Amino acid sequence: QVVTRFAPSPTGFLHIGNARTGLFSWLYARHEGGKALLRIEDTDKKRSTQEAIDVILDGLDWLGLEFDEEPVFQSERAERHAEVAMKLVEAGKAYKCFATPEELAEMRNAQRAAKQPMRYDGRWRDRDASEAPADAPFTVRIKTPEGGETVIEDAVQGRVKVDNREIDDFILLRADGTPTYMLAVVVDDMDMGCTHIIRGDDHLNNAFRQIQVIDAMQGIEDGWDRPTYAHVPLIHGNDGAKLSKRHGAMGVDAYRDELGILPEALFNYLLRLGWGHGDQEEFSREEAIALFDIADVGKGPSRFDMKKLLNMNGHYIRAAEDERLAALTVKRIGPDADEALLAEAMPVLKTRARDLNELADGAAFLFKQRPLEMTEKAAGLLDDEARSRLSSISNRFAAETDWTIEALEATLKTYAEELDLGLGKLAQPLRAALTGQTTSPGIFDVLVLLGREESLARIDAQVA
Ligand code: GLU
Repeated sequence: QVVTRFAPSPTGFLHIGNARTGLFSWLYARHEGGKALLRIEDTDKKRSTQEAIDVILDGLDWLGLEFDEEPVFQSERAERHAEVAMKLVEAGKAYKCFATPEELAEMRNAQRAAKQPMRYDGRWRDRDASEAPADAPFTVRIKTPEGGETVIEDAVQGRVKVDNREIDDFILLRADGTPTYMLAVVVDDMDMGCTHIIRGDDHLNNAFRQIQVIDAMQGIEDGWDRPTYAHVPLIHGNDGAKLSKRHGAMGVDAYRDELGILPEALFNYLLRLGWGHGDQEEFSREEAIALFDIADVGKGPSRFDMKKLLNMNGHYIRAAEDERLAALTVKRIGPDADEALLAEAMPVLKTRARDLNELADGAAFLFKQRPLEMTEKAAGLLDDEARSRLSSISNRFAAETDWTIEALEATLKTYAEELDLGLGKLAQPLRAALTGQTTSPGIFDVLVLLGREESLARIDAQVA
């Protein structure tokens, strides 16, 4: 059975790139009918506040990625990590290193001076612990192979390898008995039964080290099989540079709250960052599960394009239920907004918005109080001539028996023809009077959404 895991560290954000690897891990497990597990790598006590953990859980939940079983908290497993390290020591696959920090600094300085790569030289590898002073502090280091190479058949990167001489005897347990990241990750992966490690390719170098621990555990405990690795290329900005805040390197919550993106839009957009299926642009969740395969993840970095995301979001807004959009938008408008009216107006409003903020901006006119606040441009349209025309329009509209788009349009057209004016010449001041703005949905839509009474009151307020 395929078992994947997503292993974010609580940094305060569910970074967009991280969310994508989380999505890929989750999708692959679902595709294979396996298990998608979640592990919170909360060993950095200062950063791993409950709030930072909740940001991750909320973000995943919002994206609709529900993981199997309860999340594993890495910090709770330190004893088990130490146990594995000590088993390796007992089996002669790891050893205690009594080198003092000063000694190690000296070693590094000498290597730097000689322009040699800086790595631990193995000075305690073949010495016996009895040579150290009693009660001297020690770290536990793994005994890595002295020759040969370590090869990974990476599901995305292909065959990658490293000369074992480049891997020094790295630390598994610190002098205070706490596990290093390198140890904790691999013990957790194995104990969780992970068969596939899907993560960012910034972890590829770690994989070569983590494999040393897995190999060293052969014959000590069962179940330490090398997983399949899939190191997914990082996301770059639109210009090809490393993704930064300017390109959209924000947390998932910022996409939700600040940018007003719908979860299904972000899901679909992240899915297509590095994975594709022909030139299909849109995938339902079920389709994504059916079609997603690691083998189809691209080897080159994908580029994050905010414009594309917004266009896709606009597309999902148009497909979304009006009631849902109203519920999502109402808070963005203000205390006077009414959800029921908003839902009613939604078919008109949603035709052009690309995000929930644009939707809210477009809807704001509905809930304005009289006298309407005017933008400078709108006020500029309401000169004496315009006001006298608005007075005639008000009279004609007041006589309307049918307050419908068709009837209102016919009435305004007749009047425009009488004046020998284009319809726009009348519609623009009318829009200013009705909305206080120079942009809005179609003027007849506005009239119908506001209703007879409110429309006439707004027009008359500009006439008097
Ligand atoms: N916690 C690591 C990170 O957030 C991921 C570790 C892993 O996937 O192996 O970068």
